[in-house]
Amino acid sequence: MIRNTTTKKYQIAVSACLCGHKVRYDAKLLPILEQCLISEQLGIDFKQVEFVPFCPEVGIGLGVPRAKIQLVRNKNKQICVLGVEDHTWDLTERLKSYANDFLQLYPDINYYVVKSKSPSCGYQSTPLFERSGQKVVQIAVSSGIFVKTILEYKPQLMIVDETC
Ligand code: SF4
Repeated sequence: MIRNTTTKKYQIAVSACLCGHKVRYDAKLLPILEQCLISEQLGIDFKQVEFVPFCPEVGIGLGVPRAKIQLVRNKNKQICVLGVEDHTWDLTERLKSYANDFLQLYPDINYYVVKSKSPSCGYQSTPLFERSGQKVVQIAVSSGIFVKTILEYKPQLMIVDETC
């Protein structure tokens, strides 16, 4: 269960693996994060910022390390998050539900800094696959399911990729 205990003026949600949280096999603190936060894109005084780490995958109960997942467009043209080795392992609804819960808990957060290329957190950078016969091929680049879901509800959110 997530608790909102923040008191600073601005809250910025950050993919937890960019904050050094051990939620991903290669989690590390990226200097680019600080640069992003004080950049003109966000225009926020760094001292007034409270970081709110989030990890959708750990949030829905996955372990660290965990089996690989990927963004897949199914035959009904819906975008899902499925296991790479096992396409019957479908995490889509659980990740969407986590995103909804997060939005309800933090309704005033307007800024997100996200991990690039992740099937959960990526912003316009995540490989999107489709099954073609026995193969799975990349057909486009899209956003992870957490980011897609929060943008459906709040299209005005400002999302910054770690590679900005
Ligand atoms: S789900 Fe997001 S926050 Fe969690 S490890 Fe993956 S990219 Fe990082």
